[in-house]
This record gives sequence, structure tokens and C-alpha cells, in this order.
Amino acid sequence: MKIRTKMMLWYTLLTTVLLFIFIPILYNAISDSLYSEAESSLESIVSQAEIGIEYENNAVSWDENIDISEETPTVIYNMNENKIYENGVWDLSNNLEFQAGTLRRSILNGEKWIVLDENIQKEGITVAQIRVYYSLDSVNKTLGRIKLIIVFAVPFYFIITVLGGLLIAKTALDPISKVTKTAKSIGRVDLSSRINGNKSRDEVGELIDTFNEMLERLEESFNKEKRFTSDASHELRTPVSIIMAYTETLLKEIETERSADETRKSIEVIDKESKRMNTIISQLLTLTRGYEGRYKFVKETFDLSEVIENVMDELTEIAESAHIELAYKNNGAVLIDADQSLVTQLMLNFIENAIKYGKEFGHVWVSNVQREDETIIIIEDDGIGIEEEQQKHIFERFFRADQARDRRGTGLGLSIAKWIVEEHGGKIEVSSVLGEGTTFEIRFPRNI
Ligand code: ADP
Repeated sequence: MKIRTKMMLWYTLLTTVLLFIFIPILYNAISDSLYSEAESSLESIVSQAEIGIEYENNAVSWDENIDISEETPTVIYNMNENKIYENGVWDLSNNLEFQAGTLRRSILNGEKWIVLDENIQKEGITVAQIRVYYSLDSVNKTLGRIKLIIVFAVPFYFIITVLGGLLIAKTALDPISKVTKTAKSIGRVDLSSRINGNKSRDEVGELIDTFNEMLERLEESFNKEKRFTSDASHELRTPVSIIMAYTETLLKEIETERSADETRKSIEVIDKESKRMNTIISQLLTLTRGYEGRYKFVKETFDLSEVIENVMDELTEIAESAHIELAYKNNGAVLIDADQSLVTQLMLNFIENAIKYGKEFGHVWVSNVQREDETIIIIEDDGIGIEEEQQKHIFERFFRADQARDRRGTGLGLSIAKWIVEEHGGKIEVSSVLGEGTTFEIRFPRNI
């Protein structure tokens, strides 16, 4: 059953139940008040009659100046059963026995009446008997009219409730159907559709916004993945093409006379390109394992300062051949609790980059700072620098700045670095001036 039908049914059921509870309550209240009005008007006639009866020297008479409304027929007898006042057509002679102090409903001449009998007392003795009649005709007519209204109004009300319920449910749920339609129309590949229309700040508006935001994120990550796959294929295709070209030439020329020197050169190229492919593939593996949360961290406490020194030792030769001076300002042991092999890889990436993107006879300065709540490693160089516009992209997979294209790289090093630092709860800050140099600051929260 659709929600709109359910909503309508519940709504109708609820209002109908309420109707069946309140209609009898209301009807009884109206009828009670009409009856008590009739009774109190009878009592007021009795009080009026008490004033009209004169009692003097044991004789009872009626003050002719006082008259009682014809609408309430009244008869008064003295104690000798002589009629001293009569108004209207009714009297004690009808077969209703006189019962002082009683209020009765009775059918007289085919009509409904309320009859009130009372003794009238003067100076402490009963001097007369009064009977007053009140016709229930108008009360019954009013109550009948109300019943008629109820009988006609209830089905009408019922129809309006059902239609109104359906309309409310439709108005409330139509935007949701729209969301469903759009969601269905979004293909597996094209995530660019958005739901538009409802700009209101209600629950549906919120749902649409959330849905659109989700689509935005999906589209973004889908595009990123697309770019990643095409970049990865592109990066791998270049070394593969070179290897293929060289092996083909080698095979063709294997018969011909060829110097050992030339053959070695070709094999060296093949070796270099295979290594490059190997690097790309293993970096890709690290990244995908990291993103999929499949990387097994081995955390231990070690001195980061020592790791930096080892990495710098390892890179001395490369730095020397590029005529770059490496300097480490060691401010003492820096104990951290982290995955040592990943952190070693991290420092290697940054310091290697600083050398790779350095200028001849340049410098790389590494230092550490211990703060109360964080450990900062600073890697500064006076190399080629990064254009401001490109700085925000350097952590993206396969991104390489224009001015770095002539130097060998995969564009994956900083993505891996970012992942490693973030996995350890830290962050990386970069500041750079094109042509002057770059500074990276790696901040780890202190957990030791
Ligand atoms: P690559 O393998 O190309 O070095 P990275 O992810 O390590 O890939 O770096 C991404 C890009 O960031 C580099 O191609 C380069 O343009 C820029 N970059 C990184 N480190 C430096 C640096 N120290 N000086 C100048 N540019 C840098």
C-alpha cells in the first residue's frame, strides 16, 4: 500500500473516531442545556405565582394585576380545591395526580410536556397548590434539527476528509516521487543530473539538498576515479611503449652486427623503464591498499630524528651528484608512535623531492621542532618552487607541476605522503615561491 493511501486512511480513521466521540457529547450537552432551561423557566413561574397569591384572614386570592405567560399554562387551587387562577387550557382535572415538588415529563393530548407541581406557602402554612406546564415542542424541534444536520453532515464530512486527506498526502509526497523519478533516471555513468524545483526549507527540501550533495560527492569521486584510471594507464603506457620499441629493435638487430655497447645501452633503457613501471605499480598498490583501508599498520615507538638521519645518509650520493647540499638541524630525539616503514618512506619522498626539484648548487634544510602538543618536521629547499595556482593540486594523484615535467617523477609521491600523514592524525602545510624554493611542514600530534 502506498504511503499516501496509508496516510489518508489513518487521517480519516482518526477524524472519524474523534467525530463519533464528540458528536454524542455535544448532542447531550445541547439537550441537557435545553431541558434545564425549560425547568428553570417553570421554577421562575412558581416564584412569580408566589407573589401573585394574596393571603389575608385565612382567605387566598389572586392579584389580578399579575398575569402569567400563555406559553406556560398554569393552574392554582386553594386548599378547598377551588381554582383561584387559570391560564391556558390545562388543569389538575387531567389524570396526572398532583405530587408537590415533582417535575415530570408527560404526554398530554399527544404532546410532550414538562409538568411541575408545587405547594405555595404563606406564613409557614400551605395555602395553595400550583401546577405549571411547559411544552417540549420547541426543544424537541431544535434537537430534531440538530440530528438532521448530523445525519447529513457526517457523510459530507467523511467525503471531505477522504478527499482532503488524499490532497494533503499528494501535496506532501509529490516532491518525493520527483526525487524517486530523478534517482531512477540517473545512469550508472552519468552522475551530472540534479533534482531541482523544491527550494523550500521543509523536510523534502532538506532531503533534496542532501540527495544533491550526495550526487555531487559521488560525481566528484567518480570523476576522480575516472581520471585516476586514465592517468594510471597513461603513465604505464609510456614505459611499456619504450620497452616494446627497444625490444623490437633488439630482436630485429639480433642477427646483424651490433656493438656490445649499443646493446647494453638498449638493455639499460629497458631496465630503467621497467624499474619506473615497478615504482608506479608499487606506489599504486600502496595507495589503493591505503584508500581501501587494507593496509596493515605496524605501530611502534621510535626516534624520528634517527630515521631522518638515515634517509639523509641514503640520499647523500644523489644530492652530491646534483650539487645540492643537505643539512639537518637536529634539535634532539623526537619520539613518535607510528608505522616506521611508512614514516621512512614519507621522509624519503619529501627529501628526494627537495633534491629532485632543487637547483644546482642549492640547499636542502631539514629540521625538527618539538611543541607541547605537536611534532613538526620542516623540509626547506631553494629549488624551482611551485606556482601558487598549482600548490593546491600537488597532493592529487599523478599531478605534476608544469615546471617539474622535465624531471623524472610519477606524481604519486605526495599523494602517498598525504595518506601516511593523515593516517597518523597529522597534516602537511606547503609554502612556495616559484623560482625561489619550497617549504613543507609536516605536523604530527604528540602521542608519546
Ligand atoms: P613526483 O613523482 O612528480 O615528484 P610528487 O607527488 O612527489 O610526484 O610531487 C607532485 C608534484 O609536486 C611534483 O611533480 C612537483 O611539481 C611538485 N613538487 C613536489 N615537491 C616539490 C619541491 N620540493 N619543489 C618544487 N616542486 C615540488
